[in-house]
Amino acid sequence: ATPATAAPLAFAHQAHPAPMAAEARAQILANPGFGTAFSDHMVSVSYDESKGWHSAEVLPYGPIPLDPAAAVLHYAQEIFEGLKAYRLADGGIALFRPEANAARFNASATRLAMPTLPEGLFVAAVEELVKADQDWFPTVEGGSLYLRPFMFASEAFLGVRPSKQYRFLVIASPAGNYFKSGAPAVSLWVSDYSRAAPGGTGAAKCGGNYAASLVPTAEAFARGHDQVLFLDAVERQWIEELGGMNLFFVFADGTMVTPPLGGTILPGITRESLIRLAREEGLTVREERYSLAQWQADAVSGKLTETFACGTAAVVTPVGKVTSSADSFTIGSGGPGQLTQKLRQRLVAIQRGEAADTHGWVHRI
Ligand code: PMP
Repeated sequence: ATPATAAPLAFAHQAHPAPMAAEARAQILANPGFGTAFSDHMVSVSYDESKGWHSAEVLPYGPIPLDPAAAVLHYAQEIFEGLKAYRLADGGIALFRPEANAARFNASATRLAMPTLPEGLFVAAVEELVKADQDWFPTVEGGSLYLRPFMFASEAFLGVRPSKQYRFLVIASPAGNYFKSGAPAVSLWVSDYSRAAPGGTGAAKCGGNYAASLVPTAEAFARGHDQVLFLDAVERQWIEELGGMNLFFVFADGTMVTPPLGGTILPGITRESLIRLAREEGLTVREERYSLAQWQADAVSGKLTETFACGTAAVVTPVGKVTSSADSFTIGSGGPGQLTQKLRQRLVAIQRGEAADTHGWVHRI
């Protein structure tokens, strides 16, 4: 159980003794890539079973002390989130649905026997970092400030039980446009490995899930594909998701299908947003199981016209080709489909403040 935090925590600010020089920063911001450069600050909040959440701070970015016996290093009690801050058309700054990330973070925490974090504290922590590092927005078109909130077990204890101490941190990394010119169709490798089993941790965003996906992903790359696709672990026929994205199938009759949230796939925030946007476009969206065999048959017959993957990093990505150890097939013309492009444009326009935010998704800072 998580002790209630009596009052909202105030963040102490530690001045940075030596922030990156403007010239060096400008160079990074003109060509940020992904996940290699980090902003000047980080946010830290500590947890202790007896005290609850305490010591909220904005600190200079840097290494953190960790006891060699810290539980995270042994039993992988760790969860994370990923979201982006955007520079809006009017010059303001906004996050996209950070409350949804906060809620998913707490769902992950519960599954990993970790304390939950008040949702307001999660959002405030992200806001504090963005405010401290607002000079860190990429200058390239389509760039954003990628935010990585995470929590890990810090107690020095080797017994196998939930840690009594944790640290919650937020770091920021300038990110370029995932695709330099539009969104090229990606090629998928259907893995013979399973990502998640019923009753497992598939719906949680915990580091262990990603550690387990590294070999299947490396295999996909080695075979010349862009992404790995996982099937269900039991019947080995139902499509689940990619290593870091959810999937949608578009049919010629104007309907769309996406795999249901049965506990083995991550409940993507992009997925949920697109379901709503597509329904507003008048499309019928069904959350139901879809098999690899049916997918291939429908792609060949023309009943299925488009397939796309979605997630925070790449937003919406068309799927062009699918290969398994048994077979290979092409979707539509092998290029980006019309609905894929339309939904992508609609979502990006909302995220960037270029279209009306009728859903209350854009969280201005
Ligand atoms: N599935 C997995 C396994 C992921 O890591 C991600 C990225 N968080 C997604 C789906 C997409 O989720 P979101 O739209 O919230 O980024």
